[in-house]
Amino acid sequence: MMKIVNLWGLFSIPHPPNLCYNPGMAERFVRVFSKLDLSKITPQLLIYGDISGTCAGCQKIDIKLNQPVCPECKSEFKFIAFRNIRAHLPKLQQLSAQRPSVTIIDYDDYKRELSASKAADFFK
Ligand SMILES: [Zn+2]
Repeated sequence: MMKIVNLWGLFSIPHPPNLCYNPGMAERFVRVFSKLDLSKITPQLLIYGDISGTCAGCQKIDIKLNQPVCPECKSEFKFIAFRNIRAHLPKLQQLSAQRPSVTIIDYDDYKRELSASKAADFFK
C-alpha cells in the first residue's frame, strides 16, 4: 500500500541574488512528500534514536549509524528514520556525503502511516 511519507533530501537552493555577492548554490535539507510503499521500506529501515538504532525489520537493537547492514538479519539499510531529526540535522550532511544511496525518511510520518495501515489490516 502506498503511503505519503516525508523524505529529507539535499536540494540546491539558489541564494537570492540581492542578498549574496556570490550567486552560488547552497545545498540544504528540505522535506519532500513522496508516495512510498511501507512494506518495502520496513525491512530496509534503520530507526535511529539518540545514540543507537534499531532494525525495523528484525528489531535488532544497538545498531550504529555507520553500519550499512543489519548484523542480525543482514538486510541493507537503504532508509534511515531519526526519532529526533532536529537533534541530528548536523549529521545529515555527513551521512548523505558518505552514503548517498541512503534515503532519510521522517520518523513521525513513518510511525503514523504504519499504525494507520496496521489499524486498516485489523478491521479487514
Ligand atoms: Zn535486522
